Amino acid sequence: MTQLTHRKNTRQVKVGPLTIGGNDEVIIQSMTMSKTHDVEATVAEILRLEEAGCQIVRVACPHMEDAEAIPEIKKRINIPLVVDIHFDYKLALKAIEGGADKIRINPGNIGRREKVEAVVNAAKEKGIPIRIGVNAGSLEKRIIEKYGYPTADGMVESALHHIKILEDLDFHDIIVSMKASDVNLAIEAYEKAAAAFDYPLHLGITESGTLFSGTIKSSAGLGALLSKGLGNTMRISLSADPVEEIKVARELLKVFGLAANAATLISCPTCGRIEIDLISIANEVDEYIRDIKAPIKVSVLGCAVNGPGEAKEADIGIAGARGEGLLFRKGKTIRKVPEETMVEELKKEIDALVVEHQEK
Ligand code: SF4
Repeated sequence: MTQLTHRKNTRQVKVGPLTIGGNDEVIIQSMTMSKTHDVEATVAEILRLEEAGCQIVRVACPHMEDAEAIPEIKKRINIPLVVDIHFDYKLALKAIEGGADKIRINPGNIGRREKVEAVVNAAKEKGIPIRIGVNAGSLEKRIIEKYGYPTADGMVESALHHIKILEDLDFHDIIVSMKASDVNLAIEAYEKAAAAFDYPLHLGITESGTLFSGTIKSSAGLGALLSKGLGNTMRISLSADPVEEIKVARELLKVFGLAANAATLISCPTCGRIEIDLISIANEVDEYIRDIKAPIKVSVLGCAVNGPGEAKEADIGIAGARGEGLLFRKGKTIRKVPEETMVEELKKEIDALVVEHQEK
């Protein structure tokens, strides 16, 4: 069942200037909370998401006034825009006409064939993809009747049904999500989807929860999938500021070595040997390196007993030593610094490493 190479072996689908699928990249997405027709609020939210590292943004489009706002939003943002539509083909047509870079709509829910054709033809004309969003909580009645309750097989059957509608119209720029709030169900559904078709997969655990619990739930589910080589784009869904979704997504990609140009922090779990205020230092350094675009590992350790040796693979690090800190590179101490200035010294060393990487 495991498809270790699915990520690379999917079709490639263009979303604006980005390519989803057919490579090892996992593109980070989020969704705005503002009312889409409130252009000022939506643009401000998207610009904050861009700043945090969001690569594609999705907006809800429940009404025509939302679809009508798309051209103005597009003008003022810098990342591809996905418009999320349920059922109404007129909204889809308006969004496509307005410059959407991708739409999320399930063709099987649009209704009459002429309506589906109209949407597919408009998407073809503009060269934009369609994401099919299968959701365990809203499977077709006949599928629920067949399986009794939402199952991974039922979700794949639903995905294949929507895919077939598009393929019959010779449309193949398809991305598929198989979301469920039950982590095990989502994992099984994505695995089965990867075995059933080669369209890129958009990963997500839906309604995963608040910042704390949702981060854990999403990381568990998406982590399992990413580790199996599944997923070409993802959204961490949290009941929180969407900027938090981006932060979690970036960290998760770092864990699996899928954020090639990112800095990572190693910090000790603390114990009775601690010699410095490690927790606040670790938080400060974590914040400092969050947006650094260089593959460096930074280590922050509470003491020098096992300190530098415990983080040999760190490019740069600090270990507490009775009111002072030892700065070390690759496990070797380079100098002692007073506690009051050690974070500043560490930041300077980090900056120097970043410059070294940029010059390489
Ligand atoms: Fe304890 Fe020192 Fe290891 Fe941190 S680095 S866990 S303080 S022994």
